[in-house]
Amino acid sequence: MKIFNTLSRQKEEFVPLEEGKVSMYVCGPTVYNLIHIGNARPMIVFDTARRYMEHKGYAVNYVSNFTDVDDKIIKKANEEGVDPSVISERYIEECRKDMQALNVKPATTHPKATEEIEGMIEMIKTLIEKDHAYVAKDGTVYFKTRSFAQYGKLSHKNLDDLRSGGRSLLVSGEEQKQDPLDFVLWKPKKEGEPFWESPWCEGRPGWHIECSVMSKRYLGDEIDIHAGGEDLIFPHHENEIAQSEAANGKEFAKYWMHNGFLNIDNKKMSKSEGNFFTVRDISEKYDLQVLRFFMLSAHYRSPLNFSAELMEAAKNGLDRIVTSVANLNFLLKNAPDEEMTEEERKLAEEAKGYIAQFDTAMDDDFNTADAISAIFDLVKFANTHVSESSGRAFVQTVKDEIVLLSDICGLIVDKKEEILDARIEELIKERQEARKAKNFARADEIRDTLAAQGIILEDTREGVKWKRA
Ligand code: AMP
Ligand code: ZN
Repeated sequence: MKIFNTLSRQKEEFVPLEEGKVSMYVCGPTVYNLIHIGNARPMIVFDTARRYMEHKGYAVNYVSNFTDVDDKIIKKANEEGVDPSVISERYIEECRKDMQALNVKPATTHPKATEEIEGMIEMIKTLIEKDHAYVAKDGTVYFKTRSFAQYGKLSHKNLDDLRSGGRSLLVSGEEQKQDPLDFVLWKPKKEGEPFWESPWCEGRPGWHIECSVMSKRYLGDEIDIHAGGEDLIFPHHENEIAQSEAANGKEFAKYWMHNGFLNIDNKKMSKSEGNFFTVRDISEKYDLQVLRFFMLSAHYRSPLNFSAELMEAAKNGLDRIVTSVANLNFLLKNAPDEEMTEEERKLAEEAKGYIAQFDTAMDDDFNTADAISAIFDLVKFANTHVSESSGRAFVQTVKDEIVLLSDICGLIVDKKEEILDARIEELIKERQEARKAKNFARADEIRDTLAAQGIILEDTREGVKWKRA
């Protein structure tokens, strides 16, 4: 299995630190609002990577944090006149609901920053002791960026370029920094802000230190994979590396994975532009499985454009798989209880080829776009080779394969009959309309489709009724 590593900017063979195990840390959301569809991208793509590694037999220890202390949370709390924890707890709950609807598995651990302050103070103390950090007059603790010789190795930036860049001079409020490149580890409290006791001042941690500490606590000093959106490469992940490696004296993470950005109608998603969607907004129009399918139809590192048309295409794509599985379920009900025939055995062998095609795509830096093509090929194979005369063993094998591959992508395609009933009703309605419009070809086509699924239509005085054969 190969993973594109942001550190080397190359696809590298994945070799875990410990055989059969993967430790993975994914930077989670700041919880001051409902998550937007951009936040859903890392959740979905890294959940899929996790599912694939589990499918390959790895035990994956997956940690993803909630940033529950932050300026935006405090601002919202002050606006509502409540404690910041009321805001963060509310949106953690809502985020969990969205994750469930997206079929994103809960992490092994979901630590919260406010519950890890002690660990942060410990790491900051170590950094001061090792002369990688210093305390300014007002009690702010800064990381001494130049003390970490490898600073810039992830974002491939050079310290001197950074220095001669836009922020070369100390701006107001930063006068006490020894160097403009230094960043905050701990800062003094301000009026109306939550704070914790520390050896330096009553205050709260900077943002970067939380991930270094939570990763260490739940996964150890060295981990296999650290992931997040590409906007986090600099400065967040660069600073995490500096803190962790300076404090622990070990390589922090072996593989760094970053997802590309999600744009809307080819523009940056922004509230002020009015092109901003929460996952909840999308759920009003679509089953969130469609959003998941949409995200996986592109490679995770590519930029991804969101539009109504592309969502419709995703809906149709997912429907093709769901309908095929529904057809196989109908066939299974009446399939003759037979072992595979010689011909079926050969076909089953051929079907295995699509699983290999899927694995090859996923082994190539989780190429979900190609992996989904393999599922489509398998669906086409099923639609061509499985029929009323197929034996149960063969139908079951093909169905199980489609469900297995979809499941690795976190796509639920084996719908219960009640859910399918809605689709049948829809088709019946469409047939009525087609008849009204004298489009008899379409009306007959729908009757045949339904008949193929074992649905019998009866025209009665109260309208069309249906039953399963
Ligand atoms: P935040 O709450 O802003 O820290 O974001 C949580 C996660 O969502 C991070 O991994 C971000 O990189 C990611 N993210 C935020 N916006 C987008 C976007 N438009 N497209 C893809 N990922 C995003
Ligand atoms: Zn982080």
